[in-house]
Amino acid sequence: MNLLDLLQTSPAAFIGLCTVLGLLVGSFLNVVIHRLPRMLELGWQQQCAELRGEAPPAQERYNLLVPRSACPHCHHLIGALENIPILSYLLLRGKCRGCGTAISPRYPVIEAVSGILCGFAAWHFGFDMASAGAILLVWTLLALTAIDYDTQLLPDNITLPLIWAGLIFNLYGTYATLHDALLGAVFGYLSLWIVYWLFKLATGKEGMGYGDFKLLAALGAWLGWQMLPLIIVLSSLVGAVVGITLIIAVRRGRDIPIPFGPYLAGGGLIALFWGHTLTKSYLQLFAQ
Ligand SMILES: [Zn+2]
Repeated sequence: MNLLDLLQTSPAAFIGLCTVLGLLVGSFLNVVIHRLPRMLELGWQQQCAELRGEAPPAQERYNLLVPRSACPHCHHLIGALENIPILSYLLLRGKCRGCGTAISPRYPVIEAVSGILCGFAAWHFGFDMASAGAILLVWTLLALTAIDYDTQLLPDNITLPLIWAGLIFNLYGTYATLHDALLGAVFGYLSLWIVYWLFKLATGKEGMGYGDFKLLAALGAWLGWQMLPLIIVLSSLVGAVVGITLIIAVRRGRDIPIPFGPYLAGGGLIALFWGHTLTKSYLQLFAQ
């Protein structure tokens, strides 16, 4: 029996493989989350220098692969054995092997969440194109969530390809018809754009960023326009609960901006897995 046959006939093997893949890519996502904002910043500095007619600032090569990962404190290079998802963190007891500085628990958490969600997607959709797409969407949303949380940015070079990827996956109707997906991208962008301008005209403040419109456009392209109201309701609910908890528990000031991207991503994931069940049940509520 070859590997493809095994994956097709044994759900346990398929779920197991996707979970391991999720853990490994989760480890790479940590690199993306950490480096992509810095790479963008270096690019902007270079462009600004060019516009001013100056020589671009001298920079070491810095991308997702170079330089190798190292401890930010003692510059101890991270070896392959210290790079095994979750296990290495546990074996090192959360400390750098070189200097003993604590490693942020965020690294194993991202790896674990990626592994669990990928395994769950494999179980939910089975051996199907829908699993491949769901796993890709999970990774992208995880990276966007962490980057938005850190920097209040949803980079175009993630959100725009995500819109295209959603349309391509729906070319043959993996999650929605191409018609519904295209309208989803358009209405997803426009709905938040309208909210943004109404809020700005009413209060003079900017309530969210253009990245949020593009992220909702992407979710519309993946799941179809019918899911947009559900995604907005779910992300507002999650956002309100987390926001109120933060204000009460951490005494976080009400004026500190709370990025909306993570909640959109959370709402999008819930809609990916349970959207059809949820919309059916609320439509039934109105039908009675
Ligand atoms: Zn160190």
